[in-house]
Amino acid sequence: MSTSVTQSDSRPTTPLPLLVLGRGTELHTERGVECPGELPAPSDPGLVERARAAKAALGDQVFVLGHHYQRDEVIEFADVTGDSFKLAKDAAARPQAPYIVFCGVHFMAESADILTGDSQTVILPDLAAGCSMADMAAIRQVEECWDDLVEAGVADLTVPVTYMNSSAAIKAFTGRHGGTICTSSNAKTALTWALEQKGPGGKVLFLPDQHLGRNTFVRDLGGSLDGCVVFDPHKPMGGLTRRQLQDATMILWRGHCSVHGRFSLAALEQARREIPDVRVIVHPECQYEVVEAADEVGSTEKIIQTIAAAPDGTKWVVGTELNLVRRLGTLFPRQQISFLEKNVCYCSTMNRIDLPHLVWTLESLVAGRVVNAITVDDEVARYARVALDQMLSLPGETSKD
Ligand code: SF4
Repeated sequence: MSTSVTQSDSRPTTPLPLLVLGRGTELHTERGVECPGELPAPSDPGLVERARAAKAALGDQVFVLGHHYQRDEVIEFADVTGDSFKLAKDAAARPQAPYIVFCGVHFMAESADILTGDSQTVILPDLAAGCSMADMAAIRQVEECWDDLVEAGVADLTVPVTYMNSSAAIKAFTGRHGGTICTSSNAKTALTWALEQKGPGGKVLFLPDQHLGRNTFVRDLGGSLDGCVVFDPHKPMGGLTRRQLQDATMILWRGHCSVHGRFSLAALEQARREIPDVRVIVHPECQYEVVEAADEVGSTEKIIQTIAAAPDGTKWVVGTELNLVRRLGTLFPRQQISFLEKNVCYCSTMNRIDLPHLVWTLESLVAGRVVNAITVDDEVARYARVALDQMLSLPGETSKD
């Protein structure tokens, strides 16, 4: 089965949640698409052996990518691990592998399809592995937002900057409007570039994560909180006045990560009270007040590198996805690593990819069947590639994540 993304999306302005994950079909969003086929039972004691055997049988025909937020049982079979952009580049650097199995979420597989060659097929083991943040910006909503910016007389001054965690359609929108993609590692460089494009009075429309946009503008570029407005796609004109749009430098889309957005300042302060000399490190998708109160802020790659470089005995409280934090605890047993918030759980969509789905995917390939191929529409891919290439041409951008 394949999915495609088109620009002529006819979703309602306010798409209503929610299909139950794994049931029904909604090909135009990151959630709730059908996962067909017979899956092995999770209780099957032979799953590890079956995965090993299928992977060995496929050899160089398959390249398995594992995002840092994946379960350990999946990471065990990954040829490389990393964040979304690193993995997409890793896939592109493996043109000899006809099948790329992307253990991550839907937008990541789309990016890999855009960046890999025509002869490569990108496979997502469970089509229900979407991303709630990416879902918060539907292409029709974003195009309506742009119409509002035109109406307010600010579109000509505005450059879109879109986080990697977005659908291919939103990336294509960004390419069509002269913007750039960014990652959590290069958001500062991307924002600096974007704000310079239109000269004095230049603005950025930052999609879809308001927190990364705000944190980068205020903390990294020294901007003011007053220079930011939040555009709510569920309200006329984003819930803003023309004057507010005209006065703002950063127009932040009202989106967030349903995992990182839940870490709280109260939990951080409690950790400081309970763990003397603790170092707090969080992801920039966290809320501004949490990021402000942390000792270190960075992408998943930076979090891993920072903890790897710390001396034995360092005490950490980490605010990112739980699978990664648990793995860090295993990898660095001489440091004390705790999870920031007791009430935050795994990313539920990342966790959709499990060993049964991976076994099913690999065994299907062994049997000559391609399941769950992710194919981005050619026109969408062309403009998304423009925005991705713009990111790659940013100053200092080489092979960073
Ligand atoms: S952790 Fe957040 S941004 Fe990442 S896939 Fe899950 S919901 Fe999306």
